[in-house]
Amino acid sequence: MARINDNYLKLAAGYLFPEIARRVNAFAEANPEAKLIKLGIGDVTEPLPEAIRTAMIRAVNEMGKSESFHGYGPEQGYAWLREAIADHDYKARGCEIDASEIFVSDGSKCDSGNILDILGHDNTIAVCDPVYPVYVDTNVMAGHTGGANEDGRYEGLVYLPMTDANSFEPALPESPVDVVYLCYPNNPTGATASRETLKAWVDYALANNTLILFDAAYHAFITDEDVPHSIYEIEGARKCAIEFRSFSKNAGFTGTRCAFTVVPKGLTGKASDGSDVEIHGLWNRRQSTKFNGVSYIVQRGAEAAYSEEGKAQIEELVGFYMENARLIREGLIAAGMTVFGGINAPYVWVKTPDGVSSWDFFDQLLNEAHVVGTPGSGFGASGEGYFRISAFNSRENVEEALQRIGAKLAV
Ligand SMILES: *Cc1c(COP(=O)(O)O)cnc(C)c1O
Repeated sequence: MARINDNYLKLAAGYLFPEIARRVNAFAEANPEAKLIKLGIGDVTEPLPEAIRTAMIRAVNEMGKSESFHGYGPEQGYAWLREAIADHDYKARGCEIDASEIFVSDGSKCDSGNILDILGHDNTIAVCDPVYPVYVDTNVMAGHTGGANEDGRYEGLVYLPMTDANSFEPALPESPVDVVYLCYPNNPTGATASRETLKAWVDYALANNTLILFDAAYHAFITDEDVPHSIYEIEGARKCAIEFRSFSKNAGFTGTRCAFTVVPKGLTGKASDGSDVEIHGLWNRRQSTKFNGVSYIVQRGAEAAYSEEGKAQIEELVGFYMENARLIREGLIAAGMTVFGGINAPYVWVKTPDGVSSWDFFDQLLNEAHVVGTPGSGFGASGEGYFRISAFNSRENVEEALQRIGAKLAV
């Protein structure tokens, strides 16, 4: 009889989006005439930029001729894409990241989970709370935790609360941790980390031999000049950090799939015999063994994100979502609500009025305004009393949702 991985049975808390779907379906069945507006799940809505589509069509046509057909590509990604990434995302911002340190993949979600393959099982692991659930659940699956308590917190993980009481700046862990996940601009709170904050994390990591897993999926939404886009803008980060990036949110690739992970050479971890081992080589081995690369067509599309037209079209796309974010932010403030985020990130983090719970506010908004958002408590115990509203939607839907919420609050 095949044994299963019992750790999966601990994943009781993974109910957020299914529970939202259940409540939305029940509402829709009872109110078939209601027009629901979904500002919940963080998926993009606007079309893939033209420069990217053109590059992909060209690549499809190349695949149709034997002279220009492409079979398996390098597991790490094509050199031309890795070089474009190194030049535009890193060298242009003063970060010394070489193309050979970039690993192209089909998603940051997978990479941030797969990275555990090359890490040991006895690390002390810290996550922010609220948190992107992937970081937590993949550690549960890997057997790095005990069970969950009634707040959904897993035994064995170090939770770093991030609330308005600490201006969404989690305190450094009280005792040393081996690995910490950071996501900036932050999903779900929309908070950003200043240069000083990131420097404090890098200094902490260097002093404590901590590995920082830095998720920069939303870097393109940064509007403030002085907010770093990459952890490698901080001196010393090459010695302590891996960075995850994705084309999903900036270039609209959620359904197209392309991302990358940066593993600097010289970044090391400890083997159980006490020796220092380069993480770059381990990740290269892991990817070459378990991954066969992203499709040629998709990588050509990703490359076009760095052309002059591609960059301009992405800027416009990001600008469109950020205008939605501004409207949501200002609309909710005008309706008397306390809001955070939405300035350097496509998420607005709302404090629920009158201290109602996240789920009660979800039900209220669903029943009275027919608007769907995401309860903050679903992202962690410290998200209780908050609510996430996403700027990924059409202008029309955002405006109508705001009107309904405003109208509701006025009565
Ligand atoms: C959307 C998102 C990603 C991107 O995931 P992909 O698998 O590349 O689509 C990564 N991290 C966070 C926090 C996200 O919200």
